[in-house]
Amino acid sequence: MFTDFSLDTRLLKALDALSFTKPTDVQNATMPAAIAGKDVLVTAETGSGKTAAFALPVLHALLDSPAPQSGARVLILTPTRELAQQLAKHIDALAQFTFIKTDTICGGETFKPQAARLRKNPEILVATPGRLIDHLDKKTIELDDIEHLILDEADRMLDMGFQEDVERICNSCPDNRQTMLFSATLAHAGMRSVITASMNDPVSIKLNSHREVHSSIRQQVILANDIALKDKQLVWLLKNDSFEKAIVFTNTKVNATRLNGYLRYNDIRAGVIHGDLTQEQRTHAMSLLASGKINVLVATDVLARGIDVKGIDLVINVEMSRSGDDHTHRVGRTGRAGEQGVAISLIGPTEWNLMSSIERYLKTQFERRVIKGLEGSYAGPKKLKASGKAAGTKKKKLDKKAKANKKPNARPSEPKNRVIVDGFAPLKRK
Ligand code: AMP
Repeated sequence: MFTDFSLDTRLLKALDALSFTKPTDVQNATMPAAIAGKDVLVTAETGSGKTAAFALPVLHALLDSPAPQSGARVLILTPTRELAQQLAKHIDALAQFTFIKTDTICGGETFKPQAARLRKNPEILVATPGRLIDHLDKKTIELDDIEHLILDEADRMLDMGFQEDVERICNSCPDNRQTMLFSATLAHAGMRSVITASMNDPVSIKLNSHREVHSSIRQQVILANDIALKDKQLVWLLKNDSFEKAIVFTNTKVNATRLNGYLRYNDIRAGVIHGDLTQEQRTHAMSLLASGKINVLVATDVLARGIDVKGIDLVINVEMSRSGDDHTHRVGRTGRAGEQGVAISLIGPTEWNLMSSIERYLKTQFERRVIKGLEGSYAGPKKLKASGKAAGTKKKKLDKKAKANKKPNARPSEPKNRVIVDGFAPLKRK
């Protein structure tokens, strides 16, 4: 129960208003150490409720010892603007019955008004590393009053090349601050260095491994021989499967733009979001999805991490993610906080082996699904290795006798990995 943590009553009131009845695992595991002011190092899966896990202890600390004259007291670093906005919104909701103000400092906004807003000294700043460094360089921000520093999605910040910036920002905060680091994995090169640079004898908390797939997400694959068939399958799924909101992932901006047009042409209420769009366009697309004006968002991986829009119950990967971690982050957009979700990946002939390695990495097997009338000619590799990958195509040399005995018009053998049409059947591996 949240009442077990002796949180400020204004926070308990907000939890009640948000209908957060009991803490999630990450909240139960993190909050005692965080409330005690210790540094914490948390490995937790995406969508586990980690925002409240650090926000509640921090809000409680601010309420417990008000400091009206000070500058920003909490700094939260996060990799993307969308995440920053989402975090700020979530914290505002938790702080709705208090005086505490949160502001965001992200790229993509004009610098001057941002500097002016900073002078108003919000208690909590949520920032992306690049823009915060700009403010430090121009001396439009001081971090001398920071009491709590949170590094959110630390692995992603390292992926995006922010290690040096993150370490510099940590060094610009007072030494006696509390630091909390959240990451899906600690395996990244550079993570040790960031931990050493930022943390003081942290309590290590490991929730589910990032390899473990949400149990609330049903994962399916549908085979397709080419892009034209994938397009048709996509439209079929969006018109026939029941869902509230869906995200369609592509690997490239070009394909995202193309598919958005194709879906709209097919009378599907779609929008698009990718890294080449302006911040306004991205925010606009997100708000259209949140308000339900569109129910499908085509996106590149810009959106895959952490973004939490209520009601996303379907994720379709038109192209398979390039890695197991990326796949987990994409499918993690659905099935959040105990809701049910479906993630469907459309697999072309060149993607089979990638899919198979992701299955092995995640220690799972996706359900095979077939759409009647849209099966196409690709039914998976004829032969599979023990690993599940396609067996090599090298043909064994037939000896002369065998050649002579070979019937000229022998029926081609059935592929080994036939699936049940219009149903789901596990693939039998030889
Ligand atoms: P996060 O991992 O912080 O992005 O949270 C994922 C989702 O879980 C968000 O939609 C939160 O509003 C929701 N959430 C977080 N904590 C709880 C809770 N204790 N009870 C119900 N929902 C929660």
